[in-house]
Amino acid sequence: MGDNEHLGDWKIYWKINVLFHATSLAKAELKCMWCDKEEISTSLMRSDFALSAVKCSAGHVPAVGADSMIGVCVDCDAELIQRVTERRQQCFQKGCRRYALVQKENVIRRLGQTKLAKEEASSKVSNRKEAELLRRYLVLVDQHRFFDCEVCYCEKIAPEQYPDLQTTSRCRHDPVQCRDCLRRDIEGRINAGDWRTIICPDQDCDEELAPRDVDKFVSPEIFKA
Ligand SMILES: [Zn+2]
Ligand SMILES: [Zn+2]
Ligand SMILES: [Zn+2]
Ligand SMILES: [Zn+2]
Repeated sequence: MGDNEHLGDWKIYWKINVLFHATSLAKAELKCMWCDKEEISTSLMRSDFALSAVKCSAGHVPAVGADSMIGVCVDCDAELIQRVTERRQQCFQKGCRRYALVQKENVIRRLGQTKLAKEEASSKVSNRKEAELLRRYLVLVDQHRFFDCEVCYCEKIAPEQYPDLQTTSRCRHDPVQCRDCLRRDIEGRINAGDWRTIICPDQDCDEELAPRDVDKFVSPEIFKA
């Protein structure tokens, strides 16, 4: 019933991002993991949401180098949490076109800990507000975790289905079609006589399906005809 009831989504993102604020380490050179901009990190508070709660479906995490700090620049910090949560942000890793995914369990673990640490200092009321904020944020995460199949627009594709729907082992993008559409697409090409080279249906991917990739999607009868 509190103020949270009237929060716009962006305010939820903003407040959650603030809960991820951590004092950056020493004054050091920092290279932004998202835009590559280099800046000198000051002791300003900066969210470590991107570092601690985000991975693409291939599990990419930034490699921590000895020579430079990894983090997010001021400009990216402000809207990154919203872009990631709404699945509009591609992975930070070069060449990876998968979309960044919020790791819900990390969010819960991290903000749960924050709450415990604050337990002494803060009143019960603000703890309740924080728990409600977290609950509403997780609803947003759930709302945005599905992609629509780009062919039929009616099947929702959940991250758990990505391994099953990956068209080749070399693809570096999330699946774009549901299983039925993939099957229809690939069987259509086989029936049209193009079975020798079947290219991944993702429009920016030119990987070729190996026979075992094709088998994964078509019905066994197709080759018996
Ligand atoms: Zn940046
Ligand atoms: Zn990635
Ligand atoms: Zn579909
Ligand atoms: Zn592909």
